[in-house]
Amino acid sequence: MKILIADDDALSRRLLEKTLERAGYEVTAVENGKQALEQLQKLEAPRLALLDWVMPELDGPGVCRAVRKRSEQTYVYMVLLTSKGTKEETVLGLESGADDYLTKPFNAEELRARLRVGERILLLEDRLVEARENMRFRATHDPLTSLLNRGAIMDLLTRELHRSHREKKSTTILLGDVDHFKRVNDTYGHVVGDEVLIETANRLLGSVRSYDFVGRYGGEEFLVVLNSCDPAFAPARAEAIRKSISNGPIQTAKGSLSLTMSLGALMSSDWGLRPVEELLHEVDTALYKAKASGRDCLRMAQPIARTEPVTAPLLQPLRLQH
Ligand code: GH3
Ligand code: MG
Ligand code: MG
Repeated sequence: MKILIADDDALSRRLLEKTLERAGYEVTAVENGKQALEQLQKLEAPRLALLDWVMPELDGPGVCRAVRKRSEQTYVYMVLLTSKGTKEETVLGLESGADDYLTKPFNAEELRARLRVGERILLLEDRLVEARENMRFRATHDPLTSLLNRGAIMDLLTRELHRSHREKKSTTILLGDVDHFKRVNDTYGHVVGDEVLIETANRLLGSVRSYDFVGRYGGEEFLVVLNSCDPAFAPARAEAIRKSISNGPIQTAKGSLSLTMSLGALMSSDWGLRPVEELLHEVDTALYKAKASGRDCLRMAQPIARTEPVTAPLLQPLRLQH
């Protein structure tokens, strides 16, 4: 584990360095508070710090206050080293944001034990962060395919439509629906149906750029958002996405099977500023036309020429019932 030592006294610094290296720590040693702060601001900085109280440039409590003021998430466990032993000073040190303090001359055993306490706190923090990240992922992703769930992709789409309108760019919205998916379930069972949905999600992800969005919109319906997509290339990109589904059989536990997808598409630049649910309704209509045209094809939503100016604001995504 990495640890930072800040002490202006060369002898004391070397003694600490030796003690901690012997205890298995990866030590970075600096000689004042300013350097300590610089080290703690680096990427992959130590999360344990042993800070002398009195130092030039910036003292130990000063470093603690500056570190605690940062809004970044990573917690640094800081121990102040002090020859100051009064209660008032102890309180002052802890109030500055230090987690613990140790009086000089230090006892090596006690130092190691106190640092182990710090490690336990940091481990606890890691677990909390991990749990929070897991919860955040579960709240925004579909458990079967791990794609963005409906709520999350609708939020992202709404934001993206605002952005592309502001920047005079175009967003392409694609709604894809697997053709005759019910037959897959009926013929091979739901487990194979699930496998097919997972593979469909992977193929969709593999056919877009890293900054595009792919979400599961409903059972076997997928929403793809192509950000800043040049309208001249949008139909060809949508076609490539459609072909990624029909291109090659899907391997399942019950053998391989082929699949196709029908797509409705829309380029936001064709429509101006419209409520997101209105645009989705248009894409859905285009998808319906693709189904009616025999499936395995793409239909683009075309706006009917309007005379009045479009002023409607983009509304919050509407959770449509299917
Ligand atoms: P079309 O070509 O007109 O789209 O026909 P379809 O059979 O694909 O459409 P339909 O809407 O009739 O059937 C969709 C099926 O998808 C019905 C539903 O049971 C199934 N489905 C929805 N979600 C899941 C899922 O998570 N897993 C599995 N295995 N099936 C699902
Ligand atoms: Mg379908
Ligand atoms: Mg459907």
